[in-house]
Amino acid sequence: MQKKKKNKKSTANKKYIFVVGGVMSGVGKGVTTSSIARIMQSRGLRVTAIKVDPYINVDAGTMNPTEHGECFVLGDGDETDQDMGNYERFLDTNLSRMNYMTTGRVYQSVIEKERNLEYEGKCVQVVPHIPREIIARIEKAADAANAEVTVIEVGGTVGEYENILFLEAARMMKQKAPEDVMTVLVSYVPMPHKIGEMKTKPTQHASRTLNSAGLQADVIVARSEVPMDVVRKEKIAQFCSVASERVISAPDVESIYHVPLNFEKDNLSDNILSILGLKARGRDMKAWESFTKKVETAKKSVKIAIVGKYFATGDFVLSDAYISVIEAIKHAAYEKGLRPEISWIDSAVYEKNKRKLQELKKFNGVVVPGGFGTRGIEGKILVAMYCREKKIPYFGLCYGMQIAVVEYARNVLKLKDAHTVEMKAKPTHRIIDIMPEQRETIADGNYGGSMRLGNYEAVLTKDSLAQKAYKSKKITERHRHRYEVNPDYVEQLKKAGLHFSGQSPDKKLMEILELSQKEHPFYVGTQFHPELLSRPLSPHPLFLSFMNVLKKMKK
Ligand code: GLN
Repeated sequence: MQKKKKNKKSTANKKYIFVVGGVMSGVGKGVTTSSIARIMQSRGLRVTAIKVDPYINVDAGTMNPTEHGECFVLGDGDETDQDMGNYERFLDTNLSRMNYMTTGRVYQSVIEKERNLEYEGKCVQVVPHIPREIIARIEKAADAANAEVTVIEVGGTVGEYENILFLEAARMMKQKAPEDVMTVLVSYVPMPHKIGEMKTKPTQHASRTLNSAGLQADVIVARSEVPMDVVRKEKIAQFCSVASERVISAPDVESIYHVPLNFEKDNLSDNILSILGLKARGRDMKAWESFTKKVETAKKSVKIAIVGKYFATGDFVLSDAYISVIEAIKHAAYEKGLRPEISWIDSAVYEKNKRKLQELKKFNGVVVPGGFGTRGIEGKILVAMYCREKKIPYFGLCYGMQIAVVEYARNVLKLKDAHTVEMKAKPTHRIIDIMPEQRETIADGNYGGSMRLGNYEAVLTKDSLAQKAYKSKKITERHRHRYEVNPDYVEQLKKAGLHFSGQSPDKKLMEILELSQKEHPFYVGTQFHPELLSRPLSPHPLFLSFMNVLKKMKK
């Protein structure tokens, strides 16, 4: 009797949707996964999402942001892929390290288990032990979230070597419970301008490649520039063995937030419900729809410069490195009825030519986001100085806060050779320093273990800009940094007008800085990353307060 009950709990109602990509990378698997999760959630179901990264890296913390975009930090401190940010933003929920896996992470646990004799003397093999570990991880994440539907995005494109074991895991799950597992193929349908017609052949090939991994797409999301017509849908249906109503047209749309609504035009959630034998508990996209209305109706523009350093790759500009910052700006701007016009500026240009700083006057506000290392940092310091002196609204995130403190120490306290030890090992004034406990870890060569990661609390000063923005005395925000404001200089800085309005509960660490609004319309820096917690339906309080000031100043 007892045994039966246990079985019921672990298998009942758990459904899995694998999202895989075909034809090429960058077709929008992340947004598709997030959107599927959102529309299923809107049908009253409990939903979670998992990202699978086929890299050997154990986490995204060791990947170059110029190549892979930002590293998205979760509340528990896990350093993950930026798609996780989209899942959190679309589902309006906090995910955990269980929702993220890489090849490195999977192999690491299999090897650890082997060393611990957990395989009881068996020969441990790539197949089936690796897919089994993947399945165990998927099921664990679904259980932890008590999810009825788990959407799993498999990174990479079908046909590569790298993700094949994840596809094998999907196949094994499907074989075991055919009614509970389905596959969505996100494909690209090009429309070469000279030909003037959508071409379905690459999708047909992708579908066949998926078949060779033992999987059959139940739904094909066809990405294209323009909506797909019935003729093309039927062609894909016929050649890829998918019902034509399950070929979903996914044209380019105004914003990523329009994608779930667009999917529903082709009845995607109904299709998924019927494939998985699920019953909806209603349909509620009202809040989401009203947000997309705000996107459509925001007319007045607000010009914002993001001065960073991870933009250039060859001849292309990659703004992906700051995707959460961009989204946080958008959420707040739309909330205030403004249309954000964002410009990306490489801070290094100001190091070569200080006069160029004048261009910052064109903007309503400047954001200096996080970063690591030495390149472009003197340029960022100049930006902090210029914005302070010219009273241009300034919002510094993490490194953007640290360099604002360095700037203040140099130019207001007149401490020559004030610096962060990240830039200079032994400056006269170690304004941004490493904390003693972390120094030891780094001395041992253990850089990975030396960061302050994930959620930490801060207490806010009464009547400060920060406290008014949050409307609360205590906050929790996500961190990712190694260095801190040196407590030895806090008193001097405070006397000179730089206020630390957010501090760790033990008052040792400075979490937020601000200038009095009598001195400057908006000069704020945070040691944490507020952008990671901004959601379309609940923009971040500090971004809102930044946007509020920009709106008022425009008038
Ligand atoms: N490089 C700085 C530090 O490690 C800031 C980190 C960041 O901006 N995320 O402290």
